[in-house]
Amino acid sequence: MRLHDTMARGVVDVVPARRGELRVYACGPTVYRYAHVGNMRTFLLTDLIRRVAELHKLTVTVVQNVTDVGHLVDDTNDSGEDKVLAQARREGRTTQEIAEFYTAAFHRDLAALNIRPADEEPKASDWIAPMVELIERLVAKGHAYPTADGSVFFDARSWPSYGALSGNRLDALVAGHRTEGEVHAQKRFHADWALWKGAGPNRAQTWQTPWGAGFPGWHVECSAMSLALLGETIDVHTGGIDLRFPHHEDERAQSEAAVAHPVVRHWVHGEHLLFEGRKMAKSTGNVVLVSDVAERGHDPLAVRLSFLGSRYRTQINLTWDEIAAADRTLARWRDRVRQWAESPSKPTCAGYDARFRAALDDDLDTPAALQVLRDVERDTTIPDGSKFETFAAFDRALGLDLVRDVGRPPTALPPGAADLLDQRERARAAKDFAAADRLRDDLAALGVTVRDTATGQDWSAT
Ligand code: AMP
Ligand code: ZN
Repeated sequence: MRLHDTMARGVVDVVPARRGELRVYACGPTVYRYAHVGNMRTFLLTDLIRRVAELHKLTVTVVQNVTDVGHLVDDTNDSGEDKVLAQARREGRTTQEIAEFYTAAFHRDLAALNIRPADEEPKASDWIAPMVELIERLVAKGHAYPTADGSVFFDARSWPSYGALSGNRLDALVAGHRTEGEVHAQKRFHADWALWKGAGPNRAQTWQTPWGAGFPGWHVECSAMSLALLGETIDVHTGGIDLRFPHHEDERAQSEAAVAHPVVRHWVHGEHLLFEGRKMAKSTGNVVLVSDVAERGHDPLAVRLSFLGSRYRTQINLTWDEIAAADRTLARWRDRVRQWAESPSKPTCAGYDARFRAALDDDLDTPAALQVLRDVERDTTIPDGSKFETFAAFDRALGLDLVRDVGRPPTALPPGAADLLDQRERARAAKDFAAADRLRDDLAALGVTVRDTATGQDWSAT
């Protein structure tokens, strides 16, 4: 398997440190709000790496943290409020209630997109002791220093290769560039960052330490939890491209300074998702959730298929039209697979198998892999039983539930009804409810009853 390694700045062979075993650390969600489909694109990247590694018969261990403390609104400058605390105040609930609520929502979203959950999901607030130990170790080694307000900072200049991952070398970083010059008064150098933040008695979620009461910085959480759960050598570390700096740059410095050798063998970053041409952000009102997709009558796996239509390293501009188109492709493939399954099973086609695997091995070239499915579908020379086995095998890597309708009764729609259902789905997506109601009546006249459900329109023919 080959992946683009941010550190190597190119596509490299991924050879696990331990034979037959791939250890992956994935930066997880900060659980103060619903994850949006952009976040899900990044979580899908880890799922794809897992599935492709499993095609190679590797035993994969994925650890993905859940951040319930320490992620500040401005993580570049150690300033702003803690995201979970701020949300708890807004909703009038405890931080624990907020974290539990949004962690459960995160699990539902993963399940809706067939993203397999991590093998271990450490919650930051459960791992304070290893974080404090790690910080103590960094202080003892001269890489970190406590300050009078009970904080501890990492001394960026003590780590010579700081900046190698992101390209942000210390001499080129401008002090406080995101906060118009505001730099923590107690830092020795503007690019140092807080491993531990001293906090006054009024803050919820603080822990006692040798430096007083406080809470951990977000970056140190990932170092401590990854070292504790995966050991000092991690094969692949994933995250969205925005995490490359400062989160991963800082994590790398902390982990390597603590153990005195490289820890992460390959850093893999996924590009961002835009929606209808705009960045996905609360501030622009452009946040799309998995539940929004279902409410518009689409199978959430249509989002997964849309993501697979581009390589993880290219920015995607997703649109509702594309999701609707992907939904129709899914329905078509599931119907074909259902029909092919009625023929006697035949071995998969070796030529197509090889092309499919080569595409995925080549830095997760999912668009090329999907093209193989289209070619199998169109190929008139291979028997249906072989098409069925081929699609079923491919779906183990793609996770699109293509065999879901096998054994179900065929979709006996009267002539013209499929087209009307399609039009109605598009009318609903465009929120043209008058047209949707009219189409429902037209369908009723053909003997097709339509119901709107949480996962889309459902119908039965009489
Ligand atoms: P957060 O919960 O905000 O810490 O983000 C969780 C993950 O989603 C991180 O790996 C981010 O890099 C990633 N992410 C955030 N926004 C997007 C986006 N628009 N597209 C893809 N990934 C994103
Ligand atoms: Zn992280």
